[in-house]
Amino acid sequence: MSKTPLRGLVAASVLAACALAQDPGALDAQITEASIRGPLSFLADDLLEGRGPGTRGDALTRLYIRTQLASYGLLPGGVEVQAEGASDEEGDAETAPTRSWDQPVPILGITSKVTTPMTVTGPSGQRITFEAPSDFTADAARPDPKTAWKNAGVVFVGYGITAPEEDWDDFGDMDLTGKVLLVMNNDPESDDELFAGKRRLYYGRWSYKYEEAARRGAVGAIVIHTTPSAGYPFQVIQSGHEREHFWLPFQDGEPTLALRSWCSEEAALRMCALGGHDLVTLRELAESRDFTPVDLGITIDMATDNEVRRIDSGNVAGVLPGSDPELKDELVVITAHFDHLGIGPEKNGDTIYNGALDNASGCAAVLNLARVCASLPEAPRRSLMFLFVTAEESGLLGSKFFAFNPTWPRRQIVADFNVDGLNIWGATEDLEMIGYGKNSLTAVAEAVAQRRGRRIEPNKQPELGLFYRSDHFSFARIGVPAAYFKAGSDFLERAPQRRRVKASYTTVRYHQPNDEFDARWRLGGAVADARLILECLLNVANADEEPTWTAGDEFEKLRDR
Ligand SMILES: [Zn+2]
Repeated sequence: MSKTPLRGLVAASVLAACALAQDPGALDAQITEASIRGPLSFLADDLLEGRGPGTRGDALTRLYIRTQLASYGLLPGGVEVQAEGASDEEGDAETAPTRSWDQPVPILGITSKVTTPMTVTGPSGQRITFEAPSDFTADAARPDPKTAWKNAGVVFVGYGITAPEEDWDDFGDMDLTGKVLLVMNNDPESDDELFAGKRRLYYGRWSYKYEEAARRGAVGAIVIHTTPSAGYPFQVIQSGHEREHFWLPFQDGEPTLALRSWCSEEAALRMCALGGHDLVTLRELAESRDFTPVDLGITIDMATDNEVRRIDSGNVAGVLPGSDPELKDELVVITAHFDHLGIGPEKNGDTIYNGALDNASGCAAVLNLARVCASLPEAPRRSLMFLFVTAEESGLLGSKFFAFNPTWPRRQIVADFNVDGLNIWGATEDLEMIGYGKNSLTAVAEAVAQRRGRRIEPNKQPELGLFYRSDHFSFARIGVPAAYFKAGSDFLERAPQRRRVKASYTTVRYHQPNDEFDARWRLGGAVADARLILECLLNVANADEEPTWTAGDEFEKLRDR
């Protein structure tokens, strides 16, 4: 496990003094079970139809959030708009642009249908045709009506990772233009010192594999599924086949793949064997730093027809300007995604995927923080942004759009805290921090927790790579130190029973229509966690120094000075 950065500890002791000046006790009293329950139950109501991007529920949710933020007295933090009524002709000085509460987020939905199944041809013309979705899944990764691999050479690239900080490069100088890459999921297993041991880094995620393949000029990539490397069985991947996938609009010149694919381990074995290669041996080679890509001597064909539609959603942002002339241009962000899955397949007579915990609860927390911060007699030194992002469930699209098109100068964004799911099961001593030790926000949270007689725990399932699966990750990708708070599990009362109920949420309610608000929820834990997060937010906003990445962290190189 990563060590606490020393610089962060020094900063934290300064911060603790600041915190007392804020009188957290008085602020705490403003966050109550009722003040969480109100917005939570509203956003989770059936009338909002599961808040699917581009739906009426989406529009109503944004209207509600922006109305709340305005009522607290915050300033709009969305895109610049020309003020109505201002006229250049009259030489009016009032033509300075004002801001909207919203940042429009355009989204593309792409649904692919396989028209030519994956067909692999060996050196002497032997051929294997694979079936979808039993052997493979595929979808277009560019918004064209038809996409294909035609007679493309297949190259095994091991883990498909280039990580200078680990002195690791799977690609060498092989030209991969027009190739299809066969790639292993996860990251090297052979050495615990490498790639943070069992803790999954972004290099281990399938999305990284596709992005890197596109950067290399490949036309496609096939990720080899194994249950241990993915963390879930092949059925999970099969269930996404020929479903709609969501994207941000593509930029001119942005590298894209024609098709991206997963295949079963069995299919990968047969594919390699057709070219006279043994997948088991290839995988052993891939564990070494000396690995170089292996041209498998086979070609591959596949084609899909694609339906592309445009969906319009948006992020909503409220800003509290900072009070320190030196630091007010710097921004501390707190995010919660407001979208959920909308209306979907019927389960037990219900089609509305309310997403009460995920993430009406997080929105309720951030609305509370916004209200309390807006009521402070003196604003914190740095500016604060309360950012409600769309399309998290569609691939973190709202936060990604914000990160790459920020409504605040990018280098002046100094931290992001994210809330995705509150504790609805009762107060705990601990609070989980996803991204524990990755940056100095850990030390801030630890100091606050300690003062409150609580403690911060790293995520208990580091192999799941949760750091890459909610909106703070979009900020990490642009170099902004970010962290994500999640409910603890060390319950103060009736611990074994409550731990069981909490665990059952993931298996029974997560991403199902029955993630519904229940008046019996024990929101005492949510209140305690929101208070703790509020103090963290204020401490970072008031600190002398901006947060930093831990030396050697995978995202440190992205923070320009
Ligand atoms: Zn969520």
